[in-house]
Amino acid sequence: MATKRDYYEILGVVKTASGDEIKKAYRKVAIKYHPDKNPDDPSAEDKFKEAAEAYEVLSDQDKRARYDRFGHQGVGGASGGGPNMEDIFSQFGDIFGGGGFEGFFGGGQRGGGRRVKKGSNLRIKLKLDLEEVASGVEKKIKVKRYTACNTCSGTGAKNGTDLRECATCHGEGQVKRVVNTMLGQMVSASTCPTCHGEGKVVTSKCDVCHGEGRQLQEEIIPINIPAGVAEGMQLSMGGKGNFPERGGVPGDLLIQIEEEPHELLKRDGNNIMFEQYISFVDAALGANLEVPTIEGKVKIKVEPGTQPGKILRLRGKGIKDINGYGRGDQLIHLNVWTPKNVNGEERELLEKLRNAQNFTPNPGKNEKGFFEKVKEYFQ
Ligand SMILES: [Zn+2]
Ligand SMILES: [Zn+2]
Repeated sequence: MATKRDYYEILGVVKTASGDEIKKAYRKVAIKYHPDKNPDDPSAEDKFKEAAEAYEVLSDQDKRARYDRFGHQGVGGASGGGPNMEDIFSQFGDIFGGGGFEGFFGGGQRGGGRRVKKGSNLRIKLKLDLEEVASGVEKKIKVKRYTACNTCSGTGAKNGTDLRECATCHGEGQVKRVVNTMLGQMVSASTCPTCHGEGKVVTSKCDVCHGEGRQLQEEIIPINIPAGVAEGMQLSMGGKGNFPERGGVPGDLLIQIEEEPHELLKRDGNNIMFEQYISFVDAALGANLEVPTIEGKVKIKVEPGTQPGKILRLRGKGIKDINGYGRGDQLIHLNVWTPKNVNGEERELLEKLRNAQNFTPNPGKNEKGFFEKVKEYFQ
């Protein structure tokens, strides 16, 4: 990972620059490196993104203050990905005035053509059990989604050919208008009202999809769920959402993870917690037990003289970290079970033990108290 450049240096401003100066400087850099203006220079996009990231930090008082004190580490680490292109463009509303960035360049012609229409996203919820979360899983899920009509190739026109260029926008999909803003005259582009941005008008509709260009279909989609996902996380599969009406690219399939609680094991981050009750006889004399883990049963040894609340750790028996930082542990909380009801014979035995030499509590200096155990647990 390359080291990041200084944000002030990227925008070419001094450390004491005002918010206004930063805004102006960013505008200059953004225009210079805008990808549409530099189609033959692949490094322009990187510089463009770099500038957007610098502006994102320096235009925010809190973030700027943190950056001034702690450098890149203070604002999300030295190797973060930075904002994506969509974020950058959405941020241009305030930088370039109401017309937006596209308007500023008099086009809306990113990539040299009409803007490609994107279909809507599909959202589903996916329930996973703890075992699936722990090691990742491939799921096949059934979704109902709009796909391009085969008969008209998604155009909505009969034979795929019965359409003509829109007369209002001449196929551009947008109508432009010159507006006066505080930055001078700008071209503002808006979606063509006649063709709704499609640039084309269907003259005769496809019989199969009735001019919609798409059909609702049931599809089985395999999804690879990485290990370590958690409740509420969202995975995105590009292009598996709905196909838009009359051509374009499909939206995304967004999968929201739901965790099904496990009967015995509880998740805490990447660790697994398990409550194990033992009798005080086992606690006193020691015992060999089997405990459940996400990978099946595992033998553990309870040492003689075990005190209630002791935590045993099974290293690496937890959940794989989603970012690949190893694997969590399973922690076993040993509880000593005190009988609630005893019969006559048991009572007799216990009465004999009541005053036995070693049955009087006698915590030594080395006995770990509640405080130490909590501390140890969070280490
Ligand atoms: Zn059709
Ligand atoms: Zn039009």
